[in-house]
Amino acid sequence: AEGEATSAVTERVSTADGRPVEVAANVGSEAELGPASERGADGIGLFRTEFLFLDREAPPSEDEQYEAVTAALAAFPDDRVVVRTLDVGGDKRVPYLDLPDEANPFLGRRGIRLSLDEHCDLFETQLRALLRAAASDGDADGADDADDADGEGLAVMFPLVSQIEEVEAAVSAVESVAADLDAEGVDHAVPELGAMVETPAAVFLADRLADRLDFLSIGTNDLAQYVMAADRENDGVAAYHDPLHPAVLRAIDRTASAAEETDAWVGMCGEMAGDPAFTELLVGLGLDELSMSAVTVPAVKERVREVDSADARDLAERALACETRAEVRELLDG
Ligand code: PEP
Ligand code: MG
Repeated sequence: AEGEATSAVTERVSTADGRPVEVAANVGSEAELGPASERGADGIGLFRTEFLFLDREAPPSEDEQYEAVTAALAAFPDDRVVVRTLDVGGDKRVPYLDLPDEANPFLGRRGIRLSLDEHCDLFETQLRALLRAAASDGDADGADDADDADGEGLAVMFPLVSQIEEVEAAVSAVESVAADLDAEGVDHAVPELGAMVETPAAVFLADRLADRLDFLSIGTNDLAQYVMAADRENDGVAAYHDPLHPAVLRAIDRTASAAEETDAWVGMCGEMAGDPAFTELLVGLGLDELSMSAVTVPAVKERVREVDSADARDLAERALACETRAEVRELLDG
């Protein structure tokens, strides 16, 4: 955002009629930060912290996590960086956690369930790193952290939320870590807090989640899996696992409409967000932010600029009226 020197692709974009849409990047390692910035991402919409925990003998230290998050903030000093707390379990196994086998790991102790479960110590360490990082925002203008209404600085989101109790517990863990850091005299701030919407339960509770949190981010990879009861990795049910299924579109619509009634912003960080063929539909469904793998950022930005939001809303309404995914596909192709 430094004026002349910045090429067009790094500018924030709005629809043709002026509605801003943030186009951010999903990042799963520090090596992906540079390319995300070069492609003109408006910050990070999903920083997957799993890379810090996988393929090693012991969990990362608080300082190691702090360094990784401050590196992300430094790469995007004028933008928001949304860090997801540890999302393991399910398909992602961590040897040193020594978790019992589960017959249905995707329906088991994954994501926030695990963080709040017996691995509270891991969660606490991660939150300490995050709250410290929130105070060292990477903010070039020296503005105080935590005041992120302007879409800058650190935000933290919790994966696989399915109950309000989880949000209450996660928020109290944040408060308790803040109190500890305070007592220790360690510089810290409380970042924006959000939930991923990737279970049907979170969709049905989206109004309450949005009331309690600063933002919601829809994870369509898992949401399609759970709405359609179709394993995201099983090619045999790939026809079910389609974010264009009307049931999934209705789930997205319900989530976005619930957030619209509140001060919370709503984004999407599942694969669906990165397909420019879906951009108009997603804008029409009311998403404020789209986060995707860095390679698709320029194409989606270009698409956002062409979209008219009234036409997009009309398209979304027609898609929501479709009965089959074939009809939705036909609508988008036509
Ligand atoms: C999702 O489920 O859509 C998501 C973004 O998270 P992940 O793919 O890491 O499960
Ligand atoms: Mg997910």
